[in-house]
Amino acid sequence: MSIPIKKIFSADSRKLRNFYKEVSAINKLESSYESLSNEELKNQTTIFKERLLLGEDLMNIRTEAFALVREASKRILGMRHFDVQLIGGLVLSEGNISEMPTGEGKTLVASLPSYLHGLTGKGVHVITVNEYLAKRDKEQIGQIHEFLGLSVGLNLPMMDPNDKKAAYAADITYGLGAEFGFDYLRDNMAFEASMRVQRPFYFALVDEVDSVLIDEAKTPLIIAGKTDVHPNLSHLCAKLSKSFKGNHDYTFDLHTKSVSYTEEGIEKIERYFSVDNLYDLEHQTLYHYMIQSLRARVMFIKDVDYIVKEGKVMLIDMFTGRPMEGRTLSNGLHQAIEAKEGLVVTEENKTQASITIQNYFRMYPKIGGMTGTAKNEEKEFNELYSMEVTQIPTNKPVIRKDLDDVIFDTVDAKYFAVAEKVKEIHATGQPVLIGTTSILQSEKVADFLSKEKLQFELLNAKTIQQEISLISLAGQKNAITVATNMAGRGTDILLGEGVAELGGLFVLGTERHESRRIDNQLKGRSGRQGDPGITQFYISIEDDMLQRFAEEELDKLKKKIKADKKGIITQKSASEFVSRTQRICEGSMYGMREYNLKLDNILNEQRQTIYGIRDQLLFGEQIEETFIRFLRDLPYHEIERLFDQDAEVQLTDLALLSINLQKYMPTETIPTWEFVTEEAQIIEEIQPIFNEYLPKVNELLAKAVEKDQLRLYLIQVVDTHWLRHMESMERLKEGIGMRSYAQEDPMRQYEREALILFQQMSYLIERDIAIEIGKLVSHYNHQTKGEDL
Ligand code: ADP
Ligand code: MG
Repeated sequence: MSIPIKKIFSADSRKLRNFYKEVSAINKLESSYESLSNEELKNQTTIFKERLLLGEDLMNIRTEAFALVREASKRILGMRHFDVQLIGGLVLSEGNISEMPTGEGKTLVASLPSYLHGLTGKGVHVITVNEYLAKRDKEQIGQIHEFLGLSVGLNLPMMDPNDKKAAYAADITYGLGAEFGFDYLRDNMAFEASMRVQRPFYFALVDEVDSVLIDEAKTPLIIAGKTDVHPNLSHLCAKLSKSFKGNHDYTFDLHTKSVSYTEEGIEKIERYFSVDNLYDLEHQTLYHYMIQSLRARVMFIKDVDYIVKEGKVMLIDMFTGRPMEGRTLSNGLHQAIEAKEGLVVTEENKTQASITIQNYFRMYPKIGGMTGTAKNEEKEFNELYSMEVTQIPTNKPVIRKDLDDVIFDTVDAKYFAVAEKVKEIHATGQPVLIGTTSILQSEKVADFLSKEKLQFELLNAKTIQQEISLISLAGQKNAITVATNMAGRGTDILLGEGVAELGGLFVLGTERHESRRIDNQLKGRSGRQGDPGITQFYISIEDDMLQRFAEEELDKLKKKIKADKKGIITQKSASEFVSRTQRICEGSMYGMREYNLKLDNILNEQRQTIYGIRDQLLFGEQIEETFIRFLRDLPYHEIERLFDQDAEVQLTDLALLSINLQKYMPTETIPTWEFVTEEAQIIEEIQPIFNEYLPKVNELLAKAVEKDQLRLYLIQVVDTHWLRHMESMERLKEGIGMRSYAQEDPMRQYEREALILFQQMSYLIERDIAIEIGKLVSHYNHQTKGEDL
C-alpha cells in the first residue's frame, strides 16, 4: 500500500503523518490475521479483554484491534476498510472529528473505534440522525461486532424499560441521539433505582456530528406531561367538586395532607362525566383533574395560601406571608385553583424535564464525531466541545465540478431560469437534484417545474422511510428530485446505469444557506467515491438571507448592478457580496449558539447538582446520613436569611423564625425572643439545641420503618422544587434579552440571578425536607414516650 505523497502533505499533514504510520502497522498485521480461523479471530477479543484487565492501555491495543476488525469485515461483509477509513477510525478513537465526504463509508469507519472501546464493556453509544439509520447500521456493522464476540443493542423510542436496559447493557448500543437524551431525563425522573436504564456515560460516536451539535443546538429535549386536555375540563371539575361534602364524598387527612374520594364521590364523578370506571387507564387525566380540583378546594384557602389579584392567582409564601411574584403550582394545580375562583384558566406549563442535546453529549467523557462537513465550523467544535477536526483524504480523487454561482436580479427570474436549466439537463437524461433551504421554497420550485410540464419527485412531508427511498433513487437516469438540503441525510445516492457517461448527478442549489457547511452538504450529494458530478447554485439578490443580513448594502448594490435580459448579474461584486453576507450570517449564528450555550451552562451545572442530590436519595445506602446532610445547615441558613435582608429585623420576624425552627425541631424547646436580638446571639442559643436534636434524628431514623417512604417523598420534594426552578430560569432567560439594553453585561446578570434562584430553591428543598423529617421524629417521639409510660 503506497500512499501518494501529495495526500500526506495536505492540510492536516502533521496529524495525518502519524496516523499513516499506524496504518502501515495495521497493514503489516493483515497477513497474520488472514491466516487465523474464524474461531481464532473471535478469540482475539478475549485476549484483548484480558490484556485490558491486566492494566494495558486501550490505545496500546488499537493497532491490533483495527487489523482484527478489518479482517472480520472482509469475511462477514466482504468489505475491506480502505486505508483512509482506518485513518478516519483512528481520529474518532481519540475523541475528535473525522471529516469524510458523503459516500466515503463512514458507517464502516465507525466499526473500528466502536469495537475498540466496546472491549472495555463500559458501553459505546453509536448515534445516528434517524431510527432507520440506527437499525441499518446496527444490523450491518453489528454483524462484525457479534462475530468478534461483542454484544450489540438497539435503543428505540417506545421500547419498554426492560428492553431498553438490555440495549444499554450491550457493549455497543445504536440509536437516535434524542432518544438517549430522553432516556437520561426519564432516568432522572425515576422513583426506583431499578427503573433506570442507562449506565454511566463512557464513549459516544456521533454520526453527522455537525447536525447533532450545531444544527440542533437550539432544540431542547423536553419531557412534557399530558397536553391534549380540553380547557373547560378544569372548570367542569371545579363545579362538581364544589358540590361535594367532606367525609361523605371525599376525605381529607390533615396529617398527611392528602385528599381522596370515597366510593360515593367516585360514583358521582362517573355519573357526571358518564364514564364506566374512573380508575381505567383511559380516564387517568380526568381522575388527575378531579383530584387536583379537590385539592384546590380543600387544601388551598383564599387569602391564606393565595390571593386573587387582577384576575390572577398569586401564591403566598407561608413563611413570610408575602405574595410570590410569578410563582405557580405545577401539575395542573394552579389551573385547578383558577377554575375554583372562576378565573380564566392559564395554559399549563408542562415541562417536567429538559436538556439540550449538546449538553447531553457533553456529559460523555469522550465523543468522536464524523460528518462530510465540519472544517468550516472547526472553531466552534474546538471552543465549545474541545474537538479537533481532521479532513481525511478521500479514497478516490474527487472529480466533481463545482461551477460558479449564477446570480439573478429577482427571485422570479431565478426560478424561471432554474426550471429552464432543469429542462435542459433533463433532455440529456442526466439526473438533477434540486436543493432548497425550506419546504416553502421547495413548493415554489415545484410550481415552476410544473409550468414547464416536468415530472419530478418532491420530498416534502414524507416519512423518513419514503424520503430515504426517494433520495436514493435521485441518481437514476432521467430523475428530477426536489428536496431540502438536509433531506435524506446519510443516504447514499448511487448513480444509475449510464449516468456516469452523462456527467453524473447534477446538483442545482436554489438558495445559499445560512451556512456554507449546509451548501457543502448539498454539493456532497454528487461525486461520491470518485464519481463524476456537477454542482451549481442559482441565487438571486432578493433571497432571504441577503435581505435579512445586508439590507442596506443590498440597496446600494441594487443601484449599481446591471442585469441582462434573463436577469443574470455578471458583476464580480455581486458574488463577493453574497459570500461576504453568508460569512456575516455564519458569524451571527455562531454568536447566538455560543451565547445560548453559555446561558445553558449555568442551568446545566444546576441540573447536575440536583440530579446528584436525587441520586443520593435514590441510591444512598446510609440514607440517614443523607437526610441529616439536608438538615445540618438549615437553622443557620434560616437565621442568615433573616439578617441578610435589606430591611431592619423586626420582632415579628423573630417570632416567625421561632415558629419555623420549631417546625424543624418539633421535639425541642425553641426560645422566643422578646427583644430584637443579634444574629450571633441567636446562633449561640440555637446551636446547643440543634446539636442535641441531630443525634436524635439519626437514632430515630435508623429505626424508622417509613424510611423508604420518606425517601420517595423527599425525591418528590426535590423534583417539585426543581420543576418550579426550571420555570423561573426560563423566565429569567426571557427577561435577560430585554435587559441587554441596560448597561450591565447580561450574561453576568443572568449568572448572578440564576445563583440567587438556585440558592432559594436549595433552601426550599432543605426546608420541606426538614419539616417532613420533623414530623416523623415527632411521631416516633410520641410513640417512645407512650412505651415509657
Ligand atoms: P457515508 O456515510 O460516508 O456517506 P456510507 O457509510 O453510507 O457512506 O457508505 C457508502 C457506501 O459505500 C455503502 O454502500 C457502503 O457499503 C460502501 N462502502 C463503504 N466502505 C466500503 C469499503 N471499504 N469497501 C466497499 N464498499 C464500501
Ligand atoms: Mg453516513
